[in-house]
Amino acid sequence: MARKSPERMVAEERERVEQRIESLQRHLASIVESAAWTTNDDEHDPEGVTIAYERAQTQGLLSDAKSELEALDHADERLAKGTYGTCENCGKRISQERLAALPAATTCIRCANSRR
Ligand SMILES: [Zn+2]
Repeated sequence: MARKSPERMVAEERERVEQRIESLQRHLASIVESAAWTTNDDEHDPEGVTIAYERAQTQGLLSDAKSELEALDHADERLAKGTYGTCENCGKRISQERLAALPAATTCIRCANSRR
């Protein structure tokens, strides 16, 4: 079975994250737009609260996606340096399964678990 190259996995993951960022930004823009249509004079307006909540939640997802993108930038640097796939903590190889699920992983599963 042909394995995908790490470069390819990181590039594909980047594409997915970029698409996610784009759709979250569109969603955020539509929330802001619909908020403009609601009269926001009353802070206790239940609709206003829902919008504020949804907006905060979308912003949270957006910042998560952006930090994933940063992690992928970091993965690219590691690919260039030849340290990709090596645990930054203990120096052991990171398993293929883990990298397939999380191409931006910088630590092996053991180190990731012991950090928590
Ligand atoms: Zn490790």
